[in-house]
Amino acid sequence: MCDFCHQHGEGKKWYLNANNYAEDLLSDLRRKRFITRFFEDPGHLAKGERALTALDVMPDFLWRGVRKKITAKQQVKHFGQVVPIEDIERILALTTSVVRLACICRHVSVGKEERYCFGVSMEPNGGGIAKLLGEIDASYLVGPHTAGLESMSKKEALAHIRESEHEGNCHTVWTLVTPFLAGICNCSLPACYAMKTTVTHKSPVFFRGEYIAQVDAEKCNGCGQCVKVCSFKAFRPRKKKDKAEVRALKCYGCGICRSACARGAITLVDRAAVPEAASLWL
Ligand code: SF4
Ligand code: SF4
Repeated sequence: MCDFCHQHGEGKKWYLNANNYAEDLLSDLRRKRFITRFFEDPGHLAKGERALTALDVMPDFLWRGVRKKITAKQQVKHFGQVVPIEDIERILALTTSVVRLACICRHVSVGKEERYCFGVSMEPNGGGIAKLLGEIDASYLVGPHTAGLESMSKKEALAHIRESEHEGNCHTVWTLVTPFLAGICNCSLPACYAMKTTVTHKSPVFFRGEYIAQVDAEKCNGCGQCVKVCSFKAFRPRKKKDKAEVRALKCYGCGICRSACARGAITLVDRAAVPEAASLWL
């Protein structure tokens, strides 16, 4: 289990602990201020990435410490974890209501408003987080998905999240001042700043998932589809038609390769069952 499970999980995976979704966490004014600033000014995402790009040219040993500080700071404020679809189902079963909203990463990075983000709550109609988001000035959204928060059933939300998986998006959960957990995102490169920060700039702002992908060589026909969809470059380089092989130390356990495999050759196993990667979270 990751650090957050130990700190905020009470014996479970932290994102399956109902206490982390509790409405009373939203009465914290510091948290409310953070959420308001985060969503009112999405320009901070591009600014942060420009700073990381400038640092990338420095030798790794010089800014390794800076990367660690970025991760530590984010762990307090806004940190995530990769979560496969079966755990998304468990989160939806645990919570009461869902709203969908435009992804601010995609708005800033590719100029497109697409509803890839979900707010979950233990209260009806998106609860306090939806109320707070509804009060935020989001006039920067210019279309086509400017209609604010869209309430939907958990079944509909799951169908959208599954669809986004088939488009190659990796599911993640997010804190808004840890441990308050209210967001499910569907991330991909190059649109998402969290992916860019973690993968491109090697400054983790989310934990790896609690799982690792494994390929059944008997079922694999070497089509290479799984290799194409993995945003984390976790597959061993292969020649045409070689069977696929996952490098456990690179795998984030998102399960995107699994849904792309027409042969059903890929499964997710518990990270704890893979000794070389069992304690690798960042
Ligand atoms: S998608 Fe499935 S069958 Fe194709 S290479 Fe990957 S594991 Fe093998
Ligand atoms: S190998 Fe599969 S589960 Fe692992 S990171 Fe890549 S797509 Fe995700």
